[in-house]
Amino acid sequence: MSETVTHCPLCHSDRSRPFDRRDFRGQAVVNRLCRNCGLVYQSPRMTGAESAEFYAAEYRKMYQGGEGPNVKDLAVQRARANSLYEFTRRHVGRVTRHLDIGCSSGLLLQKFRETFGSQPAGIEPGEAYREYARASGIPVHASLDELKGEAPFDLVSMAHVLEHLPDPVGYLANLREKFLAPEGWLLLEAPNLYCHDSFEVAHLFSFSARTLRQTLEKAGFQVAALESHGRPRSTILPYYLTALARPAQPQREFVLRPERGAAIKRRLGLLRRRVLSRLFPKKAWIELT
Ligand SMILES: [Zn+2]
Repeated sequence: MSETVTHCPLCHSDRSRPFDRRDFRGQAVVNRLCRNCGLVYQSPRMTGAESAEFYAAEYRKMYQGGEGPNVKDLAVQRARANSLYEFTRRHVGRVTRHLDIGCSSGLLLQKFRETFGSQPAGIEPGEAYREYARASGIPVHASLDELKGEAPFDLVSMAHVLEHLPDPVGYLANLREKFLAPEGWLLLEAPNLYCHDSFEVAHLFSFSARTLRQTLEKAGFQVAALESHGRPRSTILPYYLTALARPAQPQREFVLRPERGAAIKRRLGLLRRRVLSRLFPKKAWIELT
């Protein structure tokens, strides 16, 4: 954990305070709260090289012998793909070219191909998953760099990816400029700071609805829909944040609208989760098989 984040990745303020400290599988994980904008981010955190090594080690542990995703994993991904489709179709009429970043086994791309008739493309760094997705006829690349020449896309999706990236604003701005059509859509899903445990070593950011919206706006997007919900895991607890956004036209100056009271909101959210989990365990966490 050798990289200290000295300035807030959203508002660049250098004023922050510790928000959460814990041991995550033998590793100390510290999250800080920006005193200016209310963003929660990990610091110190893994450097780029450490992070690559971490993913490689996890990858070996999880997919020894080049095995693909297991049945349970696929059930979760299928349920999530259905829920993301239901969200998207309420706002988006047509998708012709769809890029999914962190596409895993490709089930979201498949779902959108079946329903919207879109042409799929995926980015997936994990080799076993990449091969699995390719077997269903989806072109999948290991990184965005390999995709040059195939842009623009009219839908770019990222489910449970943004919180892993060291510079969410820069990454999203780059997507908007180089990969997304001017009238295109960005579909995002991330854990909700006010319900999800979230503070894992690989989660460099823990977003609230407000800080996710601000991150999108800073990257030049206009948010069309943003929902906190539990699908497909819960009908009563908002574990996740899902957003649809488009490139802002014309581009406008970013206005900071700080998140306030993050610590108390987190405490109340987790308390609510504990109570509802005890009262309605089957609605609080749905097993997917
Ligand atoms: Zn900040």
